[in-house]
Amino acid sequence: MAHPKENLGDEVSQRLKLSLAQRLQLKVTGTVPTERRNRPVWRGELQFYAFKYPVHGLVGNHPQGYREVLVCPECKAAS
Ligand SMILES: [Zn+2]
Repeated sequence: MAHPKENLGDEVSQRLKLSLAQRLQLKVTGTVPTERRNRPVWRGELQFYAFKYPVHGLVGNHPQGYREVLVCPECKAAS
């Protein structure tokens, strides 16, 4: 039996390991910081965020480029 589409966000939030507090913040602000990953010293740590994106819903990515915009990784992969 197929899952209703409303469950999709929960599945992704589990994959992104969002806590209840993070899910609440996501609901309120639309963006929530998640994990940090180490990068070369001169770049510092890379902060990842979970955020909602049209078409693909809840996704996770890090700010990109000079303007530090959050881009949906699925849309980026498709273009
Ligand atoms: Zn997308």
